[in-house]
Amino acid sequence: MRLVDLPRLQDVLSSPAGSLRYKLDGTQDDMGRLALRIRAEGSFGLTCQRCLGPLEFPVRLDSLLVLARSEREIERGSDDPEGPDRLVANEAMPVLEMLEDELLLAIPYVPRHEACTSEVAEPGASVPSAFQGLRGLLGGSGGSAKSK
Ligand SMILES: [Zn+2]
Repeated sequence: MRLVDLPRLQDVLSSPAGSLRYKLDGTQDDMGRLALRIRAEGSFGLTCQRCLGPLEFPVRLDSLLVLARSEREIERGSDDPEGPDRLVANEAMPVLEMLEDELLLAIPYVPRHEACTSEVAEPGASVPSAFQGLRGLLGGSGGSAKSK
C-alpha cells in the first residue's frame, strides 16, 4: 500500500512518499467471535515535535478487531476497558480506511526523538541510542514527558 493513498495519514507525515506492507486475515478471538487481524510493517517519516527534525517511525502493527453486528452490540461491551477493539461488520468494508485508522492510533501523539541530535545532553543524563528511542516509540508508552 502506498502512503499517498491514505489521505488522513498524510496530514501527519513529513513526507508523502513510502509504502507499507500489510496483511488482513479473517480469524476468531479467544471467545470464538469473528474477527479481523490487521498486520502492517514498514516505516514512515514523522516530524520531531521538539527539534522539528525528521523522525523515522517504524511501523509494526498487529491489531485484532472483533466484529460486531451493530453499534449497539459494541456499546453493550464497552464497559470492559480491557475488551478488544470492536468494529461493525458490513458486506463491504474499506480495507485501507480500517488500516489507516489503526495506523493513526499507532502514531505517538507527540512524536519526538528520544535524544535530539541538535540538543546538548544534560550533564549526567543518560543518552539512549536512536534505536532504543525507536523501540520506546513502538511500545506506545506515551507518558514520560520530560519537564524543561
Ligand atoms: Zn528531535
